[in-house]
Amino acid sequence: MMSTTLPAADAIIRRAFPGIPPEEADEMVAIGEVRQYPSGVVLCRENAVEETFYVLLDGMVEVTKVINDAEVRVLKQLEAGDFFGEMGLIHNAPRVATVTALTPITVLEIHKSAFENLLRRSSSMSMAMVMEVSRRLRENDELAIEDLRLKAGELAIAYQRLAQEELARREFLTTIAHELRTPLTAARGFLEMARFRPLDKDALDNALATVARNLEQIISLVNDILFLQEVELVAPEMHPTRIGDLLLRAVEKMQPLAEAQGVKLRTNIHPELPPIMGHERSLQRAFEQLLDNAIKFSPEGGEVLVTALIQGEGVQIAFQDQGVGIAEEALPHIFDRFFHVEKVGEELYGGLGLGLAITRQVIEQHHGTIEVKSRPGEGSTFVVSLTGADANEGER
Ligand code: ADP
Repeated sequence: MMSTTLPAADAIIRRAFPGIPPEEADEMVAIGEVRQYPSGVVLCRENAVEETFYVLLDGMVEVTKVINDAEVRVLKQLEAGDFFGEMGLIHNAPRVATVTALTPITVLEIHKSAFENLLRRSSSMSMAMVMEVSRRLRENDELAIEDLRLKAGELAIAYQRLAQEELARREFLTTIAHELRTPLTAARGFLEMARFRPLDKDALDNALATVARNLEQIISLVNDILFLQEVELVAPEMHPTRIGDLLLRAVEKMQPLAEAQGVKLRTNIHPELPPIMGHERSLQRAFEQLLDNAIKFSPEGGEVLVTALIQGEGVQIAFQDQGVGIAEEALPHIFDRFFHVEKVGEELYGGLGLGLAITRQVIEQHHGTIEVKSRPGEGSTFVVSLTGADANEGER
């Protein structure tokens, strides 16, 4: 940093403060100090309490302000003949913006006390100051109004999203209440029948079996809802997970169901799959669900094939069935909560439509993807892609 007096300083000061008598311009140079700074130097820092007033004699500076705690906005650029730093001194307040040199610059620096003396004595400088300060205040007002408008827009969007979520939550609750009421009412009917009418053994067995089935349905619905809530609300602890073992366990668990339906389960799992950062219980639940669907929608004698391959750093898993397939118009909705197709052709399929919603939520929680390919009458293939343990580590 070096200290010099520029020959042009007087002329520049007269430009900055029109009407200033030459002796006052000289005085200003005398009480100040001319300094040079390289480009990039910060002269005023937003929110800092600083005590210097600057007249830019040469070069360019940029005035910036932080908006909404994040975005840095350029308010303007100043050049020779402009001044800055007066607002904080006049108001005795922290800087409202940051000033940074864009090029090597030369400034006349005047300390707060000398600056105040000068203002008291020089009417032309006071006038220039009043004009500049009021102009800047107006600019600040405009900026504040623009920010308010921006915030109002953001608030409106957030409110709309909240209203939509509230609506979805109410619909969800209503659907649950309906889904609970149906099996409960049926169970009550059978119980009342058993209580008030003499039933023979077969009829009684029948009634009890129906009640038991309905209770099962309610328990499974409640479990699904609790699981869905848990997946949504709690971030599970992820550990390196062996996907091959998980898949085999899921297949083993679903084997009795497959046998009961006359469906054959086959696996083709790569023996050296990379470990995946995952939550075992959730992943197994998702895999069981895909298997459950594949079996449910398969014809007797059909086959379900589970394959798992290495895909880049991760794993790709496919569940392929030869079942009824999915109609094109249903495809965009099958992952929605409570989307369920009860009847395909003459076949009836039980279910509440939460299975795939749960599955998708689990896969998304693992930063994976799930896709489906299907043709009515030709079967469906659900493909899950999960990234490897190493690839995920950076994100967590
Ligand atoms: P649910 O099986 O209880 O109906 P899901 O969320 O698991 O609920 O599935 C939603 C819908 O997606 C099913 O009703 C069915 O129409 C379709 N679907 C899912 N998996 C298959 C499959 N493997 N084959 C044919 N349709 C399927």
